[in-house]
Amino acid sequence: MAAPAEAAESQASGGPRPPVCLLVLGMAGSGKTTFVQRLTGHLHSQGSPPYVINLDPAVHEVPFPANIDIRDTVKYKEVMKQHRYVLIDTPGQIEVFTWSASGTIITEALASSFPTVVIYVMDTSRSTNPVTFMSNMLYACSILYKTKLPFIVVMNKTDIIDHSFAVEWMQDFEAFQEALNQETTYVSNLTRSMSLVLDEFYSSLRVVGVSAVLGTGLDELFVQVTSAAEEYEREYRPEYERLKKSLASAQSQQQKEQLERLRKDMGSVALDAGTATDSFSPALDPSDLILTRGTLDEEDEEADSDTDDIDHRVTEESREEPSFQNFMQESMAQYWKRNNK
Ligand code: GDP
Ligand code: MG
Repeated sequence: MAAPAEAAESQASGGPRPPVCLLVLGMAGSGKTTFVQRLTGHLHSQGSPPYVINLDPAVHEVPFPANIDIRDTVKYKEVMKQHRYVLIDTPGQIEVFTWSASGTIITEALASSFPTVVIYVMDTSRSTNPVTFMSNMLYACSILYKTKLPFIVVMNKTDIIDHSFAVEWMQDFEAFQEALNQETTYVSNLTRSMSLVLDEFYSSLRVVGVSAVLGTGLDELFVQVTSAAEEYEREYRPEYERLKKSLASAQSQQQKEQLERLRKDMGSVALDAGTATDSFSPALDPSDLILTRGTLDEEDEEADSDTDDIDHRVTEESREEPSFQNFMQESMAQYWKRNNK
């Protein structure tokens, strides 16, 4: 089987292809961090090291092979040139990311700039009870509707138990009902009606069985990732382009106001609107997102300086760019404005 990296290369229609962002979500303990690390190793071995963004505060001590220190702020265009994939590990407690403003903003910022795919990791070995399984699926479903992004369910820990039982439950309503019959009447009645709701969700769902510990199932995963990235281009990109435009017009209004204030403050000093705008504008464009890695470990840099292929000269230039924090603050302001009309 051709390496996904090569397959993607051969499809390239001239010009650099933007990296595909894989936003890894899932319940605490489902194996997100292990999965991201396994994927990182896999991509390294294929000569296509990913750009890894760690938003999980719990993984400070575990350096990824593709470590990038937070001080090496890298502009997205650099990321675009050098990486085919961006992997984003998220906090153990899923709601910290999924249902928070900052999580929403990061997701929107990524999805407005890059093909972005949600990978929902679930612990297959803890989903063998039909009610637990369904709760997990309802959660996945809610995230799909929240993010509105192409979605892949990774059934992890297949080294403990094969995921075929879950696939059968999703494809065969009768089989799931049969499993439910073992449950108490109340729970099974509730679950029965819920599972009808999930039927539609299942019908278009991409599911891959993986063992993050053994590294199995990754070839199939990349087949699904490619398909999901295509879905992004086809169905999600136009939507985000619209969002970007409406953001841009809100921004230019804000810039005008800032400029006006500046004019007043400076009294009669003439200000060229063009130049002033140039020095302000990058702060608000989601595509100018500066990606940084969430670790400050001194050792990380040491350990990975040989595998880190980021051009460090870019850091110099990046200082003149808005910081990630600025970007987040501005995006947050836009977010509240939009949601408190
Ligand atoms: P996170 O909270 O979602 O980031 O989960 P972690 O990656 O920290 O993993 C939680 C636990 O599950 C750890 O003890 C891992 O070793 C274990 N784990 C993760 N993936 C697998 C897997 O594929 N198979 C098995 N057997 N255990 C796994
Ligand atoms: Mg984790």
